[in-house]
Amino acid sequence: MMNQDISYVCTTCGHLLKKHNDCLTCEKCEKQWPIIDGIPQFTEEHHYWGEISQDLMQQINKQIQKENWKDVLKRTLGEHNQEETYDFVTDLKRANWHLFLPLPSNAHVLDIGCGLGTISHSLSRHYEKIVSIETVPERLFFSKIRFQQENIQNVELVRANLLDLPFPENSFDLVVMNGVLEWVGLSEQSKNPRDLQLLALRNIHRVLKNTGTLYIGIENRIGYSYFLGRVDHSYLKYSSLLPRRLANLYTRRKKNEDYRTYTYSYSGYQKLLKQAGFQDTNFYCPFPGYNKQNLIFELKKNAVNYYIKQFIVSKYFKKRVIYFLTKALSNLGLFKYVVGDYIIFTQKSDPIPDNKIINYIKNNWTKLNLNKKHLKNISLLGHNYASGISFLLLHKNQSLFHIKLSSKTDNENTLKQEYENLKIIKNQISVQLKNSIISFLLFDEFDGFQILIQNTLPGIRLDELFNACKHPHKEKEQKIWFHKLDLVKTFLIKFHRSVQNGYFNFTPDELELKITKPFKQFFDNSNGKTLTNEMENIFRQARNLNDLSIPKIPQHGDFCACNILMDKEHVQVIDWENYTLTYLPLFDLFHILTTSLMPFLRVKEISTQTIFKRSYFEQSELTNFIRYFIGNYCEQLNIAKEFIKLCFPLYLITFHNMFSSNPAKQEIVENYRQYLDIYFEHSDKMIFS
Ligand SMILES: [Zn+2]
Repeated sequence: MMNQDISYVCTTCGHLLKKHNDCLTCEKCEKQWPIIDGIPQFTEEHHYWGEISQDLMQQINKQIQKENWKDVLKRTLGEHNQEETYDFVTDLKRANWHLFLPLPSNAHVLDIGCGLGTISHSLSRHYEKIVSIETVPERLFFSKIRFQQENIQNVELVRANLLDLPFPENSFDLVVMNGVLEWVGLSEQSKNPRDLQLLALRNIHRVLKNTGTLYIGIENRIGYSYFLGRVDHSYLKYSSLLPRRLANLYTRRKKNEDYRTYTYSYSGYQKLLKQAGFQDTNFYCPFPGYNKQNLIFELKKNAVNYYIKQFIVSKYFKKRVIYFLTKALSNLGLFKYVVGDYIIFTQKSDPIPDNKIINYIKNNWTKLNLNKKHLKNISLLGHNYASGISFLLLHKNQSLFHIKLSSKTDNENTLKQEYENLKIIKNQISVQLKNSIISFLLFDEFDGFQILIQNTLPGIRLDELFNACKHPHKEKEQKIWFHKLDLVKTFLIKFHRSVQNGYFNFTPDELELKITKPFKQFFDNSNGKTLTNEMENIFRQARNLNDLSIPKIPQHGDFCACNILMDKEHVQVIDWENYTLTYLPLFDLFHILTTSLMPFLRVKEISTQTIFKRSYFEQSELTNFIRYFIGNYCEQLNIAKEFIKLCFPLYLITFHNMFSSNPAKQEIVENYRQYLDIYFEHSDKMIFS
């Protein structure tokens, strides 16, 4: 495991260490540090801490020597109701903030307090060398097995404390401190916590290259959530908000401990980092927090205003109040002081350079038809999605472009596929429809990344709009809902008409591929289930499909509410990478209905299965709407009504199978499996019967 290109220095005298047998030795002061199981041991400090209890962690570590680490984690944490921890440990998107930095692919990274290795794992796919330090042996062991099983060879694990970093000056392009700085005060009880934090930061400053960046993911001491009762690192409420002396009295009284887990405000971090020698500091806001960064936006006025406009939408009083409050704070330039968490990038000496995307835009602005004045005062709002991150390039309160960035290691060719699909679609559709399909400006590959730049659509995501309806079962909101879905249907009719290309002529092979095979695959995967009469029935009907003349209509493939934007009466559709003729017509229609009815009946005690059942198998105003919705579409596209009933279980099975091999989508798979159970049990009551 020991890699030669990492050098270590003596933590006492700074002399370069030599490796002898299983030891690192300082020839100057004759100090020695053992290497155990390939991991250099610079500390013996053994204070266990972690998201997972020590007992459980040891149990997991025993098991992962025989089994896949993810399987063990999933099972064990599931048994202990810690599913959230499983997501936390496996979610590689937690390091997507690195795309906001201009790091070269040969960068060397130091991950401090690497824990169970998630961030190191993620960064290892993009950069040459990752050194991950941690003090807890159980966590190091887990990471070691994880990296072995994932065949990751460019991560070096080191047991070391951040107050004694055993690395030479100018070693790293990036140092990572995710949820670490606030705990530093606990490492030595005799010293002032802030002094300890300063010491740690100065250590980091020393090992950073001159062009290097320190990333910190951390809470805001005076973030709004603390006022609302979020528990502080002391495990008490409100302690971060108190002056340190009072906080100390408070924690002593409540827990008989000093208050040592210091966090800071926006200005506090700036001051601290300046004092530690850092030069240029930028703040971003991760939402909902730095440990789950669904959205990342710069704390600049234009990005904040855009975020508020786009993501705090509602007609409801409470949300309206939040909307106006945040807008007022933003206009006063105060929003940055009250957000819950920060992502901080700070530079050792040089000012922070433009990141990959901004650089790319600046180099290609003529190709993009940009006005040069637009290049000033631009900022980014990042949004994590399945295969990468998409950015909105903002200028003033306007979004200039929608930029998708995907590294090849993350997802082979998804963006290229989308680009090819869009080229085909653009040639087929009328001018009138062009505004409804996202239009691309450019596709390119650079530095191991694929970039697809698209025009921004001025709408709001349909799922955000639906989520904003607090009481969707009320009549007034249902009307809004139905109206929006109706607009979507109108779009689909127009779009599908223009891309329709004749009629299917199913050969026996095609029938096998489109119908028999998906069914068999499903039944092979669900143990104990056998072919039912219902299925025999479907097969029999499928053999007569050619009599029904089914129009050949390519499907979007992921036509769900989150891929549809709406600007008053206009529908705009994004994410075209799955566009295909493989699917039968009606799949898009079923998909938008099934996915957007989810929140429709969302009342706490109702499960998604019940909602599904009520949508397709019971008689109500809702099912009347669905029946009309699908009936009308079929009429307009000349699809025989008999086909609806046949196509529906095929839609369920196809989407079930599509996700079944993807470990990240198991929840969706489980949903579809349960829908199918409901379908097979109640198919005689199906509303299209
Ligand atoms: Zn020495």
